[in-house]
Amino acid sequence: MSHRPLSRRFVLEQRPVGQPRASDFRLMTSEVPALRDGEVSLANLFLSMDPAIRGFLDDRKSYLPPVAIGETVRGMTLGRVLESRNPAIREGALIRALAGWQEISVLGPDALGLEIVNPAAGIPLEHYMGVLGPTGLTAWIGLHEIGRIGSGQTVVISAAAGAVGSVAGQLAALHGCRVVGIVGSAAKAAHITALGFHAAIDYRAGPDLDAAVRDACPDGVDVYFDNVGGPILEALLPLMREHGRVVVCGMVSEYNHQDAPYAVRTLWQILVKRLTVRGFLTYEHADRIPLAQAQLGEWVRTGALRPLDNIHEGIESAPTAFVALMSGATVGKTLVRLESTHHHAHHPLSRAD
Ligand code: NAP
Repeated sequence: MSHRPLSRRFVLEQRPVGQPRASDFRLMTSEVPALRDGEVSLANLFLSMDPAIRGFLDDRKSYLPPVAIGETVRGMTLGRVLESRNPAIREGALIRALAGWQEISVLGPDALGLEIVNPAAGIPLEHYMGVLGPTGLTAWIGLHEIGRIGSGQTVVISAAAGAVGSVAGQLAALHGCRVVGIVGSAAKAAHITALGFHAAIDYRAGPDLDAAVRDACPDGVDVYFDNVGGPILEALLPLMREHGRVVVCGMVSEYNHQDAPYAVRTLWQILVKRLTVRGFLTYEHADRIPLAQAQLGEWVRTGALRPLDNIHEGIESAPTAFVALMSGATVGKTLVRLESTHHHAHHPLSRAD
């Protein structure tokens, strides 16, 4: 006879071909296993929808192994510790980790990305999975550590209405940069202009992205914060100023068809302009995270930095939320809020301190 709680989770049903579909995932209910020494169980409050998940679904080695067919889909989550057999983590603690699309996760002490989150009073918890989580930290590390932005410089950001892009643009503007965003619709262009971007370019509006960027950046581009790769990267390289920096944050235009990558034809410009083109993973810059966290927290508290969230309700919505993200339909950070959020908010274990 079992007394273990049940947990719903999404497993990978089949590997997506091109754009993912909801039918690539299957909802299952399983018993949560009994904890072993060192483990904690986590009641997930939010699932983070990230383009990186698309990479885990291909049968291809990346910085992490692929998700196997029938395995729980991997993704960042924010949750409350239900039970702990790890002396460093108490029950009720708020935890962020690379866990999965499931209601309850069991995590060992060396779980990837596991960190204890100490939320500030009055800040909605979802921000710790967005502007005050990996998303905002990625924007900060990319701009400062890789892009080395400075006041008066011109910064161009692609996927500018997205989770990382919308934060990066606001941060660069707060640091006195001239900020130009590249987006995939007129509605997104209006959105980022309202957030304080100095100019917005809809790359789908006309054939000549090159001319549009030239118009918006008559003196060239000091820093290109690249979220997309492909033809937009190709267009930007010749428009960089000498000694400019290309922040290689992601290449989302490639993720749905990694077998047929776009061949960028302007790489010669890296030499002509003596560019620094540098990729990064946020979690490898741990020494800078406390400063980044403090600055982001202060700007959210004062309202100088406006979080954009796009929250889907219930674990059932995870596949459609992910499909929407990967089709360019979303603005801001895409999250799935689990129903358990509501009753855990009143659960005695949920009191933070
Ligand atoms: P997001 O920007 O909210 O969503 C993805 C956006 O990409 C879409 O809304 C779409 O916007 C754009 N896009 C999709 N296909 C495109 C295409 N073919 N051409 C141009 N744009 C396309 O996602 P996010 O979570 O903020 O992630 C942004 C990037 O940061 C991703 O590349 C991700 O892998 C990367 N990232 C890197 C790190 C790191 O540590 N290096 C950490 C987190 C995220 P449009 O409608 O404007 O096209």
